Amino acid sequence: MSNPSLLILPGDGIGPEVMDQVTRIIDWFAAKRDLPFDVETDLVGGAAYDAHGTPLHDDTMAKALAADAVLLGAVGGPKYDDLDFAVKPERGLLRLRKEMDLFSNLRPAQCFDALADFSSLKPELVAGLDIMIVRELTSGVYFGEPRGIIEEGNERVGINTQRYTESEIDRVARSAFELARRRNNKVCSMEKANVMESGILWREVVQKVHDTDYPDVELSHMYADNGAMQLVRAPKQFDVIVTDNLFGDILSDCAAMLTGSLGMLPSASLGAPMANGRPKAMYEPVHGSAPDITGQGKANPIACILSFAMALRYSFDQGDEATRLEDAIEKVLADGARTADLMGPEGGTPISTTEMGDAILAALDASL
Ligand code: NAD
Repeated sequence: MSNPSLLILPGDGIGPEVMDQVTRIIDWFAAKRDLPFDVETDLVGGAAYDAHGTPLHDDTMAKALAADAVLLGAVGGPKYDDLDFAVKPERGLLRLRKEMDLFSNLRPAQCFDALADFSSLKPELVAGLDIMIVRELTSGVYFGEPRGIIEEGNERVGINTQRYTESEIDRVARSAFELARRRNNKVCSMEKANVMESGILWREVVQKVHDTDYPDVELSHMYADNGAMQLVRAPKQFDVIVTDNLFGDILSDCAAMLTGSLGMLPSASLGAPMANGRPKAMYEPVHGSAPDITGQGKANPIACILSFAMALRYSFDQGDEATRLEDAIEKVLADGARTADLMGPEGGTPISTTEMGDAILAALDASL
């Protein structure tokens, strides 16, 4: 059997800096856990534009479609701000998501105890928090037709359409239930069935998928506005939240802030299963290319490393090794290691991107 394949797309700005640390961790798993990957690295975003005049070369797209998983750093930067919309770095990312049909976006909100003081909420509300927001990523109001700004009488009207088919709801609901089975077996579905027909259908389909194929998972429904309140009132009541594209966009950012720094937040985008049973998948930190700190050794690599941990768990069935990596990060933070973004008001000396990588590798060694 050949090794599982990983396509690494470091991208722009701090993307390559944080991805260097992930590469060291990948090498560690190959050397110390007998978990080798066939790794290929390629260009995306501004780096691809500089080399090929396009933010994603067709060959790279083909490699992404063939890989068992894609790991992406970040794209964009001021150098590319004036480019045509069609060749902006972000278009590379959007093309990957679209052509891989990554309909299920997983955004964990996980709070390491050592960082509980970073949250905007009281530490006791977030210490140990571990929830997962599953956002539908390829449909809904961001894509629905008709859309546009039209003239009506003597004024203009802005129009967007919230539209969901049963199959679109069905597949993202399944993705949430599958995920819940690997976690604490609870799903809360959020919509606005009180005022939106698409919400009524959403609720019906999620319930049907549950009753037919996932009766063992605890399911509840909540209006999305109440969900937002509950997320900041008592976030630990949730395990998996599944919601549409628009509500997911907002609720996942809200949940993210419960945990402190952007430099800590991973994500996964999953699609339909491939012939080998693995879902099409792309893993990436939530943060961007951080041009303000690029090249200074200040970037926190943890979001990108946690994205690789998600790949281990969701693409490669290596949940125990993912936990080993997350535990190593937890230990390093508990021991006080902090990149600049994690410095509290009490100050201290921040460590560099590479030193954070060193510390995590040392904690991994200690886990053996
Ligand atoms: P950003 O996430 O790059 O940075 C926001 C702030 O957070 C900055 O002060 C930055 O220094 C800090 N930060 C981000 N990641 C960090 C890390 N790992 N460690 C330490 N500090 C970190 O967002 P922005 O400044 O709005 O955007 C910069 C560029 O990135 C833009 O071109 C934008 O389009 C692009 N962007 C890309 C993605 C992506 O690739 N998925 C996401 C968001 C923004």
